[in-house]
Amino acid sequence: MNYDTLILICKLWAGLGLLTFVLLQFVNPPYGRHSSTSWGPMIGNKAGWVIMELPSFLIMLYFLVSNGKINYSGFLMGLWVLHYFNRSFVFPLRTRTSGKKMPLIIALSAILFNGMNAGLNGYYLKHWGDALGPGFDSTLFWLGLPLFLFGAFVNLKSDQLLINLRKPGETGYKIPKGFLFDLVSCPNYLGEILQWTGFFVMAWNLPALSFLVWTLANLLPRAKAHHLWYKTKFSEYPKNRKVVFPWVW
Ligand code: NDP
Repeated sequence: MNYDTLILICKLWAGLGLLTFVLLQFVNPPYGRHSSTSWGPMIGNKAGWVIMELPSFLIMLYFLVSNGKINYSGFLMGLWVLHYFNRSFVFPLRTRTSGKKMPLIIALSAILFNGMNAGLNGYYLKHWGDALGPGFDSTLFWLGLPLFLFGAFVNLKSDQLLINLRKPGETGYKIPKGFLFDLVSCPNYLGEILQWTGFFVMAWNLPALSFLVWTLANLLPRAKAHHLWYKTKFSEYPKNRKVVFPWVW
């Protein structure tokens, strides 16, 4: 594939992300607390997470290995692989969702989503990431890296606090408290958004931007749905807690 073709695909892909953002104002992807049996065959929740996220891990690992150099692109690929190692293996193993299911269609659509994002980003980084990227001595790198790492910390810590709300064997929901949960309903999504914003700043290319667009398209409507769900389910839910951006929304 040449550079112009890849850039065209990224623009179309980002455009589809924006359309999805509009669609998700009306449809709640049925997994987790919004799960529904009316979306066809169901699969186990943990297996679903592994199936959904594994393509992203494997595809970027392939590009990392075939890149074969410890250069700027290799560093960015390494960050991606680490994130998706956690998301594909550690996160599903740690979740306390025994007996819970998700529709197979969700897992299959996520395979497409993850495959496209990892494929576009990996291909670009391998072929043009070093020649066209900002490089280790750029301001963009030193702005993006702390943002990525801070986002990863917020995401991991928030997911851990959410998972630990349940004792082993429990499946219900509680009001999360402490850390950034005192400010927003979904700090795990805030962390994820900061992470991929930082990645885009470091990579400074269209594939990374299109992934950020998709991350926002997925997580902003879902954060709003979670926030409204908490307010409906718990009458004592803190009134001053925002959706995902502290003090703002
Ligand atoms: P949720 O916050 O809905 O759930 C995270 C885990 O915590 C689940 O195991 C959930 O159980 C449990 N949990 C959540 N809230 C409570 C509560 N109040 N009481 C008890 N247990 C709770 O996150 P998602 O499942 O939507 O996403 C998981 C991760 O994947 C996040 O870090 C997110 O950022 C990331 N992600 C990234 C996307 C992207 O586009 N880059 C898209 C989607 C997710 P249960 O499953 O039973 O609800």
